[in-house]
Amino acid sequence: MEQSLASADDAERPLEGPSLEGPSLDGPSLEAGQRLGEWVLEAPLGRGAFAAVWRARHAALEGRRVALKVPHDPAFAARLHREGRLLEKVSGPQVVGVVGLDPDHDPPYLVMELVEGESLRDRLEREARLEPAEARRILLEIARGLALAHAAGVIHRDLKPANVLLDQAGGVRVADFGLGRLNEAATQELLASGSLRTQEGTIVGTLRYMAPEQRDPQGEVDARADLYALGVILFELLTGEAPCGGEVVSDVRPELDPAWDDLYRELCARREKRLESAAAAIDRLERVGVEPVGPDPVEAGAARSVAVPAGLFARWLAFSIDALPFVLLALGPLRAGRGLPALLAFLLYDLAATVAFGRTAGKFFCGLRVVNREGGRVEGARAFQREALRLLSLASLGLGYLPALIPGLRAFHDTWADTQVVHD
Ligand code: ADP
Ligand code: MG
Repeated sequence: MEQSLASADDAERPLEGPSLEGPSLDGPSLEAGQRLGEWVLEAPLGRGAFAAVWRARHAALEGRRVALKVPHDPAFAARLHREGRLLEKVSGPQVVGVVGLDPDHDPPYLVMELVEGESLRDRLEREARLEPAEARRILLEIARGLALAHAAGVIHRDLKPANVLLDQAGGVRVADFGLGRLNEAATQELLASGSLRTQEGTIVGTLRYMAPEQRDPQGEVDARADLYALGVILFELLTGEAPCGGEVVSDVRPELDPAWDDLYRELCARREKRLESAAAAIDRLERVGVEPVGPDPVEAGAARSVAVPAGLFARWLAFSIDALPFVLLALGPLRAGRGLPALLAFLLYDLAATVAFGRTAGKFFCGLRVVNREGGRVEGARAFQREALRLLSLASLGLGYLPALIPGLRAFHDTWADTQVVHD
């Protein structure tokens, strides 16, 4: 009985294959122009832990293009053979089609339909996270691919973003059935035909996407293992992150439909409680909402940081509250010769309060504050400049306040000092 272990760092690496002793990772040296059977290699398309995949053209029918999978080591010929047999059983629009196979060639190769585009892993690296509508579309297609495989008795066992291919027309195809396995009934059928070589007792798959029963060497793995992987992919597509602990989607994106959380929980539950079939996952996905149900916290934060300029009424009220004691002082019983000192005292008070607290008492009561261009507290020199300009404005019968009557414009002293009175 073979068994391999992996650390958390290996979460993205398959557990079966090159990590076991023997086969080399370098693979046969392949180059463009090289001929493999009827096919001529053109350019490398991708590389997995087991094989290199090349775009190739037919040697005689020059218009035909395919993807050719060549294992890193000829010792993987049996695995390649198995992958070809499984792909042959699972055909449909959401699964990469098999075109040919020569496990006895040196090097052995599998011929697949060419998917011109990128893997879902590449897409995630480009875009971090996807919008819910797009995530749902892709997940639905993967689930349909799984439904096709499961109906044919095939379990994928290594479903992950690197094994999902996206073509340029938006098509989604499940690829890399290299770790696929047949369920009991199909195994018996294939064993009878004498061509199945399995390694029972081997842990296969990729840690992050692996269901608990798949991590257990004695665990019994059935089609539900693929649904667990679908749940991990769901989390990654929506959040751009790998699930951590008991987190659900809404811990990262609270604005999304809570039905995403329910679906994620049901896909990543322990086997007995997990959704029972790909058909059930399709049904759930079709019903999950893609419109945000709450404000996006990122956008809400951005909106908060955009200061709302103070309305004229609030400013006038704040000004009245602030000016009142000074007006009383100027008009009171001791008024003779008090006008100018009262005005200067008012300006001094305004200056000191603005520098110390970012607002005067009147502004405090009206929920206003004075900010600089960056939205921060106004520095001393700038506050002084503002006050001096205000004095000019007041001296010219308050003409400098007039622009503030027009929404969006600031009083002259605010414009020149590059300050603004905003709502808190
Ligand atoms: P491995 O079994 O080594 O993981 P894969 O079958 O996953 O190999 O293929 C490795 C990479 O090659 C994929 O991630 C993808 O980028 C590319 N690839 C695989 N199959 C195709 C295909 N049919 N068309 C285009 N690119 C492919
Ligand atoms: Mg792969």
